[in-house]
Amino acid sequence: MQHRIDGERLWARLLAMAQIGPIPGDGSCRLTLSDDDEAGRALLISWCAARGFALRRDAIGNLFFRRQGRDADALPVLVGSHLDTQPTGGRFDGVLGVLAGLEVLETLADLDLETERPVDLCVWTNEEGSRFQPAMMGSGVACGILPFEQALAACDAGGVRVADELVRHGYEREPVPDIGLADCYVELHIEQGPILENSGKTIGVVTGGQGIRWYEISLHGEETHAGPVPMALRKDPVPMLARLIDLVHDIGGRDPQARCTIGQVRAVPGSINVVPGRIEMTVDLRHPDEIELEAMHHALMRGCSDLSRNYPAIRLDVAPRWHSPVVRFDANLANLVRSCAERLGFAAHDMVSGAGHDAFHLARRMPTVMIFVPCRDGISHNPQEYASPQAVAAGADVLLSVVLDRAMSRG
Ligand SMILES: [Zn+2]
Repeated sequence: MQHRIDGERLWARLLAMAQIGPIPGDGSCRLTLSDDDEAGRALLISWCAARGFALRRDAIGNLFFRRQGRDADALPVLVGSHLDTQPTGGRFDGVLGVLAGLEVLETLADLDLETERPVDLCVWTNEEGSRFQPAMMGSGVACGILPFEQALAACDAGGVRVADELVRHGYEREPVPDIGLADCYVELHIEQGPILENSGKTIGVVTGGQGIRWYEISLHGEETHAGPVPMALRKDPVPMLARLIDLVHDIGGRDPQARCTIGQVRAVPGSINVVPGRIEMTVDLRHPDEIELEAMHHALMRGCSDLSRNYPAIRLDVAPRWHSPVVRFDANLANLVRSCAERLGFAAHDMVSGAGHDAFHLARRMPTVMIFVPCRDGISHNPQEYASPQAVAAGADVLLSVVLDRAMSRG
């Protein structure tokens, strides 16, 4: 028999959580470790306490709620996501994975189902990376990927440290973060892109995540007055910038899975009547295949040296800033998500995540998979972010089935 979650209860809780840190247009703002973030956590804690799910916290502020299994020593099945939002966040990003996880625990309790393994609901601190960098902080520390000291020292724009906020909210006495051993980690999330909606499918079977490479590029010319200096005598970096933008977009356009973004361009000094002496820009390259991402990297480097030859008066500096390798989720778990979706009657679609998620860190420590549901027009990080009650319930139903399958297996 196929068990189902309570879709109405889940939907009501999504709306209730959105009332904490509300912003115009149905959005939410719960910046990491702010009072609103803590208030959201307090609401979740009250729901979990009402059902007797034991709470454990760690010193980076991650929360873990446990529904005990028959064998208390068996490796737990982990589900979860995050409750923090972007400054103009929506109601579903992260929140869905947390509240659907709670819904799974509650449904198991409602059905009086004794699982073999414990099931833990995880809430990761600072997934968004909006107030404090880097993103995916709590999961990174718990998985031993991000040094704890580095996370504690991270400052927001006002100079407040993560460490200060953790003390203010009383997390500093909790145990040092360590995810330890677990059977697996499963995270439900809205897709944050248009692929599922366009394909008409309800469930995304996420097989992994794109690799990402970041660069800072600067073009150094000579600052001069816009009037007196003839064009031929200028060292203006702007024509080179135009070729560089073409180059990056050619790299991004060479294959449908490639992505390129020039998110920041700054002319210095940035005045209407001054030829800029310097232009600074960023490049973000992504691909789900590490070899292809590597090829994109080399194409960028080669293109930059060609441009330097063609514009000898301008100096081009390119600095690689970050490389997040391609993530591969567990193939057995992906198969399980696919078969659970089929059994429940939902059309499923294999896909790769374009955004970063806590699950990327977890995947380095244990078998991990993600489940996506469509969101309207692919909009996320925005008050207009919307997933239908049907999609939300479908995702949570699949999450329940996957968790049940793993939690019923003997440790
Ligand atoms: Zn998220």
